[in-house]
Amino acid sequence: MRRLAIFGATGTIGDNALDLVARHSDRFSVSVMTAHSNADKLAALARLHKPQVLVIGDEAGRATLRDSLPDFDGEIWVGPEGLRDAAEISVDVALHGIVGFAGLEPALVSAAQGGVLALANKEALVAAGPILMKIAAKNGSKILPVDSEHNAIYQLLDDGQVDRSVDKIILTASGGPFRDFSTQQMVDVTPQQAVAHPNWDMGAKISVDSATLMNKGLELIEARHLFDVSPERLDVLVHPQSIVHGLVYFNDGSVLAQKGSPDMRVPLAYCMAHPERIETGVARLDLAAQGRLDFEAADRERFPCLALAEAAMRAGGAAPTILNAANEVAVAAFLDEVIGFTDIGDIVDAVLQRSESGAADDLPSIFQTDEKARQSAQEFVQKLAKN
Ligand code: NAD
Ligand code: MG
Repeated sequence: MRRLAIFGATGTIGDNALDLVARHSDRFSVSVMTAHSNADKLAALARLHKPQVLVIGDEAGRATLRDSLPDFDGEIWVGPEGLRDAAEISVDVALHGIVGFAGLEPALVSAAQGGVLALANKEALVAAGPILMKIAAKNGSKILPVDSEHNAIYQLLDDGQVDRSVDKIILTASGGPFRDFSTQQMVDVTPQQAVAHPNWDMGAKISVDSATLMNKGLELIEARHLFDVSPERLDVLVHPQSIVHGLVYFNDGSVLAQKGSPDMRVPLAYCMAHPERIETGVARLDLAAQGRLDFEAADRERFPCLALAEAAMRAGGAAPTILNAANEVAVAAFLDEVIGFTDIGDIVDAVLQRSESGAADDLPSIFQTDEKARQSAQEFVQKLAKN
């Protein structure tokens, strides 16, 4: 039996992981489950999977859980402290599917435990990549990437190791729902349009990031740290069908690509059962029915968020932390219909320009940098707020 901790059990990553747990109840048990606000869903999941520890965002959520689960004899913990404590529980695989910077601290605690860290929370690597990788290496933890593109690259490399034979690593991008839109057309798009991703069913924040292509920019930074490669050896290719997830160019002219139906259960199963492969219930890829696979260069003019993230990656230091924080604030404001879609990139750009760059190489300075960038982004949101 492999014991799992699922951080963000009520999200899309949680749903997919728990689908795999249900398919393989002889193989996986769930020790820890966390949610931010959806106590009802967490209670339903707890009845099904009987974990020892639940974590919920606040005391009101804890009260709801206690009412809904009168027979539950495990622990119910609350908030960031509860998440940190839960990450110290001994498990075989800690899956981190919390969205945003909020997932950083529990991911850091898991990275110190010496087990497998199945990492979906890309914002943790963007905001604090060097620290997270260092803690994992020091404690003998193995980070397996859940993000489909990075999972693809991991599968194409020997145990995720990049050596001199690797010329280039390419992450594919679907291009999102506005791939063919002009900038002018993007000005008036709604949150509903932005979260309607053509190929993947995901949470709201990452769906908006996919529509701005910020997601691909965050993923470049994620890849830079995961595989310890320089920015020059990383690139992006738009591939609308989302069948090819990643490519590795080798120095002899050989190019390997990983393919599969766009379904997160594939990378999740890879991380959860590693080094074995297990049945996922995912539709088998039928390339004859698929017929064609298209590729095109990414357009950084219509999708400035990609260019901003690439610049932040090259700048290093505090820039990725600032980029991530500003983006989280701007995306939340867009989802709340306070600002427009194209304001997201403008705000991230403005915050990066206004912020002092420099180092952010210890945890306190990362938290401080994140907080300052959030405040600055919030000011720009107020300025741009629709009346
Ligand atoms: P989601 O919005 O569906 O779920 C987010 C989860 O995080 C929920 O369980 C929620 O309760 C929890 N959460 C939210 N805010 C929190 C906070 N402040 N504190 C503690 N918990 C909090 O998101 P998702 O689509 O499942 O994505 C989760 C992460 O995985 C993101 O970092 C995303 O980029 C990454 N990811 C997702 C997919 C996908 O297909 N959904 C693919 C690749 C990577
Ligand atoms: Mg991805």
